Amino acid sequence: MKDANVINTLDVKHLRPKPRMTTPTGRSSAIASIAGRAPTEQSVNFTDHSPKNVFGSNTFSLAVMKEMLKPDTYSAVLKTIKDGHKLSEHVADEVAEAMRSWSVARGATHYAHVFYPLTGLTAEKHDSFYDPGTNGNEAISKFKGKVLVQGEPDASSFPNGGIRATHRARGYTAWDITSPAYLLESSNGTTLCIPTSFVSWTGESLDTKTPVLKSMQVLDKQARRILKLFGHKEISYVAATAGPEQEYFLIDKSFFYSRPDLQAAGRSLFGAQPPKGQEFEDHYFGAIPERVLAFMCEVDRELYKLGIPSKTRHNEVAPGQFEIAPLFESANVAADHQQLIMTILKKVADRHGLVCLLHEKPFAGVNGSGKHVNWSLGSATQGNLLDPGDTPHDNAQFLVFAGAVIRAVDKFAPLLRAVVASAGNDHRLGANEAPPAIISVYLGDQLADVFEQIKGGGATSSRQRGTLHIGVDVLPELPKDAGDRNRTSPFAFTGNRFEFRAVGSNQTIGTALSCLNTILTESLDYIAGKLEGAPDLNAAIQSVLKEIMDQHGKVIFNGNGYSEEWHAEAAKRGLPNFKTAADALPAFIGADVIEVFEKYGVLSAEELHSRYEIAVEQYVKQVNVEAKLVEEIAQTKIFPAAAAYATSLAETAAKLKAAGVAAPGATLTKVAALTSELEGQIADLREIHAAALQIGDWTFKVLPSMLAIRKTVDALEALVPDDAWPLPTYQEMLFIR
Ligand code: ADP
Ligand code: MG
Repeated sequence: MKDANVINTLDVKHLRPKPRMTTPTGRSSAIASIAGRAPTEQSVNFTDHSPKNVFGSNTFSLAVMKEMLKPDTYSAVLKTIKDGHKLSEHVADEVAEAMRSWSVARGATHYAHVFYPLTGLTAEKHDSFYDPGTNGNEAISKFKGKVLVQGEPDASSFPNGGIRATHRARGYTAWDITSPAYLLESSNGTTLCIPTSFVSWTGESLDTKTPVLKSMQVLDKQARRILKLFGHKEISYVAATAGPEQEYFLIDKSFFYSRPDLQAAGRSLFGAQPPKGQEFEDHYFGAIPERVLAFMCEVDRELYKLGIPSKTRHNEVAPGQFEIAPLFESANVAADHQQLIMTILKKVADRHGLVCLLHEKPFAGVNGSGKHVNWSLGSATQGNLLDPGDTPHDNAQFLVFAGAVIRAVDKFAPLLRAVVASAGNDHRLGANEAPPAIISVYLGDQLADVFEQIKGGGATSSRQRGTLHIGVDVLPELPKDAGDRNRTSPFAFTGNRFEFRAVGSNQTIGTALSCLNTILTESLDYIAGKLEGAPDLNAAIQSVLKEIMDQHGKVIFNGNGYSEEWHAEAAKRGLPNFKTAADALPAFIGADVIEVFEKYGVLSAEELHSRYEIAVEQYVKQVNVEAKLVEEIAQTKIFPAAAAYATSLAETAAKLKAAGVAAPGATLTKVAALTSELEGQIADLREIHAAALQIGDWTFKVLPSMLAIRKTVDALEALVPDDAWPLPTYQEMLFIR
């Protein structure tokens, strides 16, 4: 077992700069404080503390359990994790006791059932391990299996979309043994966190985890049916796998605190374009700025401690934008870890005097942030089922799984669009930097060619990969991938997995994963039904794949998803194009969606309705906050600054005139006109805002009215003296760190 002290000696003693509120003149002192900022003390010392020892040191892992539990108990735990066996009370008691002593020895005083409510956030309720003893001067730590297995947070404050009345607030959290418990450290104490499912008293899921678990269970069952057809005798659990790439922005905390819009809405509602944006393309994969690298190293260390296999880090396209990607894991664990990654990013940023923005579009005019969900399925015995090998045309098993995905994505394209619909992601999708709202599948040249051959009556060849000769003798020859990449597709085959690129940076991946798993389950079930009992398996495979291509091949698109032509072509093919969340969200309650989710027991009609209602509610709440912010900032910050400037210009003009000098008037005229326009626009927004009822009112009336105000404000930003401008500028926020 790893020594807890190893970690404690690494504890952070950062210089934590106090955030400053920036007033117009304070803006310059904020900049001065950032410029004069001393580097953080070196806290991440991987020389003395090898990542090998750090990795997983804060997780109650299988290795820890193996060491601490009786052999019988350990194998019972394994049976539950690997084969879904029920856990007995006595086993739970022993695990709970091991968890308690392991965490208390590492300084934990509390435990928390962690759950994932439909807000998309992570929720936790903390309880102390300690009870007072009878003497009144002692504290005894206790943790029973019953308490480990089930918790009861007050569910009434979490959205349930009408599933429960508030007076019937019971909700339960149930221990998910398949996702390891972990210790979450704070500067003043440690908490044992136990991942759980969150369900209502009547058994409906109130979270994003439960459907992931349910969908994985049914996917396993249908995938095995297919594998059996291919003659496999020994087949172990087939798990959906996920590897999410997370994009995010970092800005200095001093700026953040003087932008109420970033604080309350996560995105800037005003801000003129900086003189230099991302047009030089000099940020992507560029050298990581020192301060950011220090942050990233610490993020990695924290993630390693939690057993999260953080793998890749780099600059992204927009200035101030970065990416982190872990190695893929079982979908359920990946989803939990993804939530933790978001938590850790925010927490560590704070220690470095930075703020991590996870919003999909924090800054207009530069790239937004997505979360590419790489997704596949595989088992210990058969490996990755979406690995085509070198000759996909004669890898029938692969073709069946890939064909099942194509069919599922086409059949349930509106659902996949609904899953990524949110107030934030609406600003990103289709903004010429992110996939459009049209769901299509990119296969790459090699695979697209194979499926074309299938459509034409049978596949007989695969384009080969070849080698890339660079033309310099000292450089190695590189094996070339069989297909190029396509960054414009919302759903791309990337060699041995699909990448769902439309997911937003702020969204939980659990929802996307449960939908993907469920619709693939339906496809595999359908295909298995066609193949089982067929007299000639090969002929049956050919015919079902051809049928899939005939009916669903229209979803395949290898071209430029950003182009105008694609929009026209997609319309011709009859592919749905839901441009806004208001258009997209109703797919959650489409008859076909309800049918498939009910059929496989992943979500009931009522649960789907509740999810739809919560998504609409979240959308409306978000736009409502934004509208209020626009009104407030425009009225109380921008209007006074603009009016004061107009007044001073008028006074100057009057004085000059009195002195007999010709007074310049162009700027005054512009500022005065914009200021009065602003006043009128604020009044308009208030009226439109007050009248908004349906989600469509918010999308098609409130948002455009906010945008009109932004235009005026951004025009004023170019006129009002810099030292009188009340908000940190894009230039400052994106480039100073
Ligand atoms: P990109 O080149 O698309 O930016 P990255 O290397 O940043 O890719 O991330 C790719 C992600 O895909 C990683 O999280 C990786 O672990 C994941 N991945 C690889 N194989 C699979 C698989 N079989 N199932 C799910 N995810 C996978
Ligand atoms: Mg990727």
